[in-house]
Amino acid sequence: MSKTLFEKIIAREIPAQIVYEDDVVLAFRDINPQAPTHVLLIPKKPIPRIAEAAGEDQAALGHLLLKAGEVAEKLGLKQDGFRLVFNNGPDAGEAVPHLHCHILGGRKLTWPPG
Ligand code: 5GP
Repeated sequence: MSKTLFEKIIAREIPAQIVYEDDVVLAFRDINPQAPTHVLLIPKKPIPRIAEAAGEDQAALGHLLLKAGEVAEKLGLKQDGFRLVFNNGPDAGEAVPHLHCHILGGRKLTWPPG
């Protein structure tokens, strides 16, 4: 199977501004930021989307959520707040079929989302 765009970023075949990495996850700045800080946090395992995650992914997804908080703090977002977004499927606007958590902050975010 061909690599997803984000697998190519993990493999350093496509450049990205990496802000955090460990054995399980990678965080890098979004190429088209929707807020002053917009980072994508992905599992290195190519799970397509939340709805395709399996029981065996529980530890990786728990780790990813813990790291989302840590990365947000590292980026200076803890005090004023931030938003985590997982787009799943066409109605949500999912464009890359490799599970990713958007970390958005640095401005007042509106609700409901568009
Ligand atoms: P989705 O719409 O699937 O939830 O989010 C995909 C995100 O990936 C978008 O915010 C888009 O800007 C970002 N993106 C697409 N291609 C690239 C790329 O080559 N590099 C980086 N850093 N982000 C990308």
